[in-house]
Amino acid sequence: MSASTPVWVFQDPLQNPENQFFWTQAQARKLALKHCLSCDAPHHYPRSYCPHCGSDQTEWRVSKGLGEVYSFTRMVRGVEQPFLMAYVRLDEGVELLTHLQTSDWPAVAIGMRVKVDFLVSASGQNVPIFIPL
Ligand SMILES: [Zn+2]
Repeated sequence: MSASTPVWVFQDPLQNPENQFFWTQAQARKLALKHCLSCDAPHHYPRSYCPHCGSDQTEWRVSKGLGEVYSFTRMVRGVEQPFLMAYVRLDEGVELLTHLQTSDWPAVAIGMRVKVDFLVSASGQNVPIFIPL
């Protein structure tokens, strides 16, 4: 991270039984995804039932945390601190709505390779974000 990259402090994420493991893994700097054992497909956000086939036979798997920018926008109006929001498509095939952290905004493009990183929320919860590879 360059000196010009603003430091972002997130509000604490809402945690519930369906996403508790996701946040526990994030504290260990790991990105966890739900995977359906019935249709062999990953999904995100975490749910007890597979959104593809409805099965409750799901398990957690740790993502490699690598992917590409599927879409992005620059949030500059009406915010205290400009930031980049992006849909990142992980190599596992699921998309996450996330922050993209870089000081080189002109270099951001659809298809750009990114990897997960973590920023800390107000009370110390790691929150996944993405940075350029
Ligand atoms: Zn399924």
